[in-house]
Amino acid sequence: MADGGALLGHKKPIPNHDPEKSKDESDLQERSTKKKKDGEHIFSSHSSLPKDYSDVVNMKGFDGEGGSYRDKVTGKTVGGEYGSDKEEEEKGGEEDEGVCMKVEECLVGDYECPNFIFAKQEEKCLYRPWRRGVIVKLLGRRIGYKALETRLKQMWVRKGVINIIDLSNDYYLVAFSNEEDQYAALMDGPWFIYDHYLTVKEWSPNFHPASDTIKELAVWLRISGLPIEYYDSRILNFIDNRVGKTVKVDKNTLTQERGKYARLCVQVNLTKPLLVMFTIKNRKYNIEYEGLHLLCTTCGRFGHYKEGCSEKGMESAAKRDDQGNAGKGDGSCQNAAGSGGDGPWRVVHK
Ligand SMILES: [Zn+2]
Repeated sequence: MADGGALLGHKKPIPNHDPEKSKDESDLQERSTKKKKDGEHIFSSHSSLPKDYSDVVNMKGFDGEGGSYRDKVTGKTVGGEYGSDKEEEEKGGEEDEGVCMKVEECLVGDYECPNFIFAKQEEKCLYRPWRRGVIVKLLGRRIGYKALETRLKQMWVRKGVINIIDLSNDYYLVAFSNEEDQYAALMDGPWFIYDHYLTVKEWSPNFHPASDTIKELAVWLRISGLPIEYYDSRILNFIDNRVGKTVKVDKNTLTQERGKYARLCVQVNLTKPLLVMFTIKNRKYNIEYEGLHLLCTTCGRFGHYKEGCSEKGMESAAKRDDQGNAGKGDGSCQNAAGSGGDGPWRVVHK
């Protein structure tokens, strides 16, 4: 699991470490108090909204059998294309100061399709309870609620508590009560459950599980047979950065304790074929990926097995050709393209 590696210049924004936050929060409070004073004619009541995570967990039906709150939560994100039309949003805010929600009557074909619009301040209130939310999905395997809960509590719960909400499309929302726990979950990966990657990302407004796809993933890769002098953080980071975006280098690799293979963590783009080889001084080295079970060894893309690969014919032939040329005069390519349309990609099981 999540070998602690040294973070090497990988700077992700620290979640919720906004210096403006405290000011923001007091602003929010002020606004909601003001609204109540201003009058009843405005259709805006914040009294029923959870102000914080503790309110969320205390709300009836949050994780009970009824799941009414959960239904509301999932309902909120579904079908909302709001947010794309900024101009309208801003205009609306200026014209009707204090109005938090409005409806625009529209037609889709012959059918009425009202468009609901919420003011920015209203949205801030809506988002706030979820600011310590983390969206997770187990890649390539389904996991039940209870099993996930058990594992996440072991892996992530240190100082606070978590609450898990199952969304559609095998996504789960994990709400943290403690900021440090959330930060560790976001930063200390990659995380594995049953030898599958658990994808982790910060909750964001308007997240739509049904249409969301995992495009980027931090994965562990191995480079075997690399001469020991290249076990150097600058060199390894340089290589890693070409594969994807460097996340970290395994600490055993950095201290040169493990000389059989270098182990690097890198953020890769799953929509493109993964890089599978490189050369240094005319010697070719292969890159193997840990735990990416659904990596197609024919086209190098993630998400299907080679049996179901749509690019079987042309692509693999081209790859073999490529290999034939690149492989000339080098003695170390061990995983050359195999027979039967296989490309050079290899997945190692942890
Ligand atoms: Zn394929």
